[in-house]
Amino acid sequence: MLRGVGVSPGLAIANAVAVRWSLPNVEDRTVAPDEVEQEILRLHDAVSVVAEQLGDLRQRTLERAGPEEAGIFDAQVMMVQDESFLAGVEALIRKNNLAAETAYDFKALELRNAWASSRTAVLRERLADLTAIQLRMLAYLMGRTTEEVWLGDVDEQMILVARELLPGLTVQLDRDRVVGLISEEGTRTSHAAILAHSLGIPAVMGVRSAMEAIPPGALVMIDGQAGTVIVDPTSEELEVAQIQATRRAKLEMQLEAIVHEPATTPDGVRVEILANVDLPEEVETAVRLGAEGVGLLRTEFLVIGRTAMPTEDEQTEYYRRVGAAFGGRPVVVRTYDLGGDKFPTAFDAPQEANPFLGWRSIRVCLDSPEIFRPQLRALLRAAADRAIHVMLPLVITPDEVLRTRELLAEEAASLAAAGIRAARTVPLGVMVETPAAVLLAERLARDVDFLSVGSNDLTQYTLAVDRGNARLAGLFNPLHPAVVRQLAAVRDAAAGAGIASSVCGEMASDPVAVTLLLGLGFDRLSVAPPAVPMVKWVVRNVPHAVAREAAVAAVAADDPAAIHAGLREVLGRYLDLRLVDPGGALPRVSSGTSLPDAY
Ligand code: PEP
Ligand code: MG
Repeated sequence: MLRGVGVSPGLAIANAVAVRWSLPNVEDRTVAPDEVEQEILRLHDAVSVVAEQLGDLRQRTLERAGPEEAGIFDAQVMMVQDESFLAGVEALIRKNNLAAETAYDFKALELRNAWASSRTAVLRERLADLTAIQLRMLAYLMGRTTEEVWLGDVDEQMILVARELLPGLTVQLDRDRVVGLISEEGTRTSHAAILAHSLGIPAVMGVRSAMEAIPPGALVMIDGQAGTVIVDPTSEELEVAQIQATRRAKLEMQLEAIVHEPATTPDGVRVEILANVDLPEEVETAVRLGAEGVGLLRTEFLVIGRTAMPTEDEQTEYYRRVGAAFGGRPVVVRTYDLGGDKFPTAFDAPQEANPFLGWRSIRVCLDSPEIFRPQLRALLRAAADRAIHVMLPLVITPDEVLRTRELLAEEAASLAAAGIRAARTVPLGVMVETPAAVLLAERLARDVDFLSVGSNDLTQYTLAVDRGNARLAGLFNPLHPAVVRQLAAVRDAAAGAGIASSVCGEMASDPVAVTLLLGLGFDRLSVAPPAVPMVKWVVRNVPHAVAREAAVAAVAADDPAAIHAGLREVLGRYLDLRLVDPGGALPRVSSGTSLPDAY
């Protein structure tokens, strides 16, 4: 059995077909000085042709999947037409008399290296888009075919195995023939994954060495929920998979039924379930899956990977648009959480020995008014007619809140003086993601309108365990007693000050941890959009009074394993734990996606 990440649910059994493609080797070709202008013309011709091809794919995607998915190709068109990138290629052609393909390849490599070293998931995932346009551009410039893949004349159903799946290929797949996808690269939010999900093709990505481990033609069974791939499954394995698939189908139906129901416990305690939104394309999913607002709107995508900072107008428009999608429900916008590894290209980022203990988040914003002020102005403007709330990341002192309040007041006055429509003030909250903020939670709670625990960073900074280090994954535990007790302290501080408290780290989408958070009395949980129905389902099934008892026991316990076991036992009294996915992937509700008929 091979393991990866289940990105599109469903069970598929078929023979494996390997898809091989790679970026062409581009020679270092130079041209005569009088041919330079011709190369630049060729470059621009290629851009027009590729933009047209992508336009066709966009149309096809619109028909097959929907507008949200079609937007993937808008992003690729923007990338291929990016003026600053093309100016860089042109400069290289002129300066070194390079052939267009040589210069293009060089610039793409430069960008790829810059992005690949970033730990920002958004950027790494956009690498697949870069590869896709690079393939097309080079194919045109080198006079080759633009076909990314040749599937042969196989009539039978197949499961494709590839090193990397590109969105352009994925959207062209015939669902009747290609019943499953496996790739070595890719994550849940990569574009090929989003498309596979929309097209209803079960897919597992991030399967290391899949190309080597799966012989072409072998029978494979994939579980796009659990993220597993079994080569040559036994009849017993096939049977187990069928039973699990039936259980999951049942759960999906139950989740579908409660999508638009409130998250109220059987004993009448109401918890709001909101969404964490990283990218604009997630907004629609969050609304569709019943999120009651946005508890964490990450804004880094507005600046990362771009050569210029977004304008105030552009930001205002984005915040307004998200606000509108949720009607009058709150949208909590987190101010730029830059730094560590997330810096805009245009920014003069320092090299630091310990970036995660370095110049990041609110520290960068307060030191860089040229970045922070336009964001605050945009937030005030959007808040004029939308329920926009503002949240500050990585706060460690009350002073950071006070200084932000001063900036907000100054910008509100300046907008009013200029006659620009804007709110005079916005609800302001802080993320509690450092032990310092927990210890000062009572004081911070007096200065702000809400507290929201960023349990990812709080766990990392409490346990001194890097959240991104796979080797330490076993130690990264938000149910460690040191974190659990801090959670209790934050919720008590908020309740004492009469303000709302929420949790917006990943733990809020783990059903076992939800039992704890419910019992501790958090008012809101904010989770990735696909997890919204599952979290609601837990809240609707576990009585608050019982969760409360379990939480009291968890706060008193010293052993992480005992905390987990205690909470799990309580959850198991109300829900079939076999339905909680063993791989940690949560069931998703998706219109149009269903299990194969046989199950
Ligand atoms: C967190 O730290 O828990 C959090 C929600 O913020 P991010 O994951 O963006 O750091
Ligand atoms: Mg954080």
